[in-house]
Amino acid sequence: MEQIKKNLDKLEQRISVACEKAGRKREDILLVAVTKTASLEQIKAVYDLGYRCFGENRLPHLKESYEFISKFPQGQVQWDMIGHLQRNKVSAILPLVHRIHSVDSLRLAAEIEKTAAKLDKKPDIFLQVNCSAEEQKYGIDPNQAAELAHQISEQFHSLNLVGLMTMAEFTSDTHKITSTFRLAKDLFEKIKSSSFAPSCFGRLSIGMTNDYEIAIAEGATDIRVGSAIFA
Ligand SMILES: *Cc1c(COP(=O)(O)O)cnc(C)c1O
Repeated sequence: MEQIKKNLDKLEQRISVACEKAGRKREDILLVAVTKTASLEQIKAVYDLGYRCFGENRLPHLKESYEFISKFPQGQVQWDMIGHLQRNKVSAILPLVHRIHSVDSLRLAAEIEKTAAKLDKKPDIFLQVNCSAEEQKYGIDPNQAAELAHQISEQFHSLNLVGLMTMAEFTSDTHKITSTFRLAKDLFEKIKSSSFAPSCFGRLSIGMTNDYEIAIAEGATDIRVGSAIFA
């Protein structure tokens, strides 16, 4: 578990430098620790270092980790669903999570709305937008994102539409990554300034291990980092 501390120290160091360069404050960026590959002991080590926001994309591992961490009551822990979400998994996922980063259709939003109302819950949701134009990636087309945001904020009252999420291509081409994040940021600003944007719309979930420094420079409020912590 020494390694986890070392990894987090190094990560925090680099986040701080990126914030400084961008003229931003560390506390304005939420680090979502992505637990996909992490053991329960590793997750506990991150928790013990004071981190309270975790992200997962598979239901079994989410459930197991959620239950394990719930046993340590000091401080509120928040779990985020970060990956592709099938509609038939919504009712199992929703009781465990505060936020969902991967809403990319009206049908999925409708399913979350229905379940949230039943549970008397109001989850935060991000629209996942495919700003990198990679064929196989999930996410709504950037040209349709504002319309979907409009529909969701108008029709669904058990959802807090808090912002946009985008994944950049996994590449060492920083220009490519920057332009993907800029597209997301422009879209974010456009929706934020529209008449239909809910007052809670203010978050941009961009940046992973490969590109969180670029994401911070481009305006990320949430970075979702796994490998840099757990590998
Ligand atoms: C796995 C994953 C991450 C974290 O990726 P790393 O490269 O391990 O930091 C972030 N977001 C999503 C949607 C993921 O699936």
